[in-house]
Amino acid sequence: MTLIEGRSIGFGGSGRNNGQVIPTLPAAEPDWIEGKFGDTGARFVDLLQNSASMLFDLVRAEGIDCEAEQTGWFQPAHSAAHMRISAARVAAWAKRGAPAQLLEHAESTELLGSDKWFGGMLNPTGGHINPLMFARGLAKTCVAAGVDIYENSPVQAVVREGDHWQISTSNATITAHAILLATNAYSGALTPDLAPKIRRSFVPITSWQLATEPLGDALRAGIIPARQAVSDTRGDLQYFRYDAQNRLVTGAGMIFKTTARARLPAHVGARLTHAFPQIGTPRFTHIWNGFVGITTDFFPRFHYLGPNYLGFLGYNGRGVALSIPLGRQLALALTGAPEQDLAISLTTPKTIPLHGFVLRLAPAALARYRWRDKHPPNL
Ligand SMILES: Cc1cc2nc3c(=O)[nH]c(=O)nc-3n(C[C@H](O)[C@H](O)[C@H](O)COP(=O)(O)OP(=O)(O)OC[C@H]3O[C@@H](n4cnc5c(N)ncnc54)[C@H](O)[C@@H]3O)c2cc1C
Repeated sequence: MTLIEGRSIGFGGSGRNNGQVIPTLPAAEPDWIEGKFGDTGARFVDLLQNSASMLFDLVRAEGIDCEAEQTGWFQPAHSAAHMRISAARVAAWAKRGAPAQLLEHAESTELLGSDKWFGGMLNPTGGHINPLMFARGLAKTCVAAGVDIYENSPVQAVVREGDHWQISTSNATITAHAILLATNAYSGALTPDLAPKIRRSFVPITSWQLATEPLGDALRAGIIPARQAVSDTRGDLQYFRYDAQNRLVTGAGMIFKTTARARLPAHVGARLTHAFPQIGTPRFTHIWNGFVGITTDFFPRFHYLGPNYLGFLGYNGRGVALSIPLGRQLALALTGAPEQDLAISLTTPKTIPLHGFVLRLAPAALARYRWRDKHPPNL
């Protein structure tokens, strides 16, 4: 088996993400998934609810050194209406056997070290990792299992020749019986014409990440003392997790990219100060960004691209845990498992009409999310 990476391992979302190991999708609820995909959807929901545990089990089984902490994932509700949505979410997951719990305001305040949220959903199977260490550790595990990895080798073309595929980079050609196109939100970023339909079937959104300087012991003990990964119910998400040096790793979306880097520390710092006044004005030591692949219904796509040629994309910001079981599903699909045994439905890529225009307009959606965050529905 051969892995061809255009840059270096973890160059894409896998090395740049916030490291939150979350066993849910951002918008697709279990009832919706089962309603849309039937038995396949039920199998998908089962994988989703076990995805965080699968990742941590893999880390333990393979001894991957990635600062993994299975401390739980908490989704605090930012409004009374969202607290009711959290209650419905907990009920939907609990019905399926997931260990989701609803925390009321007092418990949430204790968990967060902040009384700014109304309560929320806790899932103890979640947690966090250092994503780049995880990606590199996983690559090492693959090499030990016999996988050949070529870095700095952007694939230029994939061509069908008789009963096999030819994959070309600038200085080599590989022949393969089966291929998985795993370029996800970076589809088109290195080779625009590799899979043009895929490139035009989703919206890559820039997500910014910031890490504070390490917090002192007293501050750390008062802010998320049990070290859960936290991401709230806002459309313009607020999220935090600790790294091994006790930095708070957080982030934000920005409508205007050009001056974003200069404006981010004040913007994200003000949010942290509001949530955790004891932190004062935080100092950020690291800022970076990456593309999140967003689909029209916020549900991932699994594409049939030709005989023994599959692709996938669109974890919608929740790929850390989910990519573990779905990688296995894609491997099963490529090796001929019947579709009725799989948790994924294969489709062909559908381009988004006026894609170029949508790409330019997409960051402005954040303004709408921010407005909705301030004016929650009256449920
Ligand atoms: C800033 C940020 C924060 C996030 N936070 C979270 C989080 O906290 N929790 C969570 O669950 N999810 C999060 N996500 C989403 C998550 O990171 C992704 O869903 C996941 O990493 C996708 O993994 P992947 O392997 O499918 O794609 P990627 O890791 O993006 O890999 C795609 C790879 O394809 C390569 N490539 C592209 N074109 C070519 C070519 N022509 N030839 C060869 N190689 C090519 C790229 O170099 C890249 O390395 C976040 C994403 C970002 C960007």
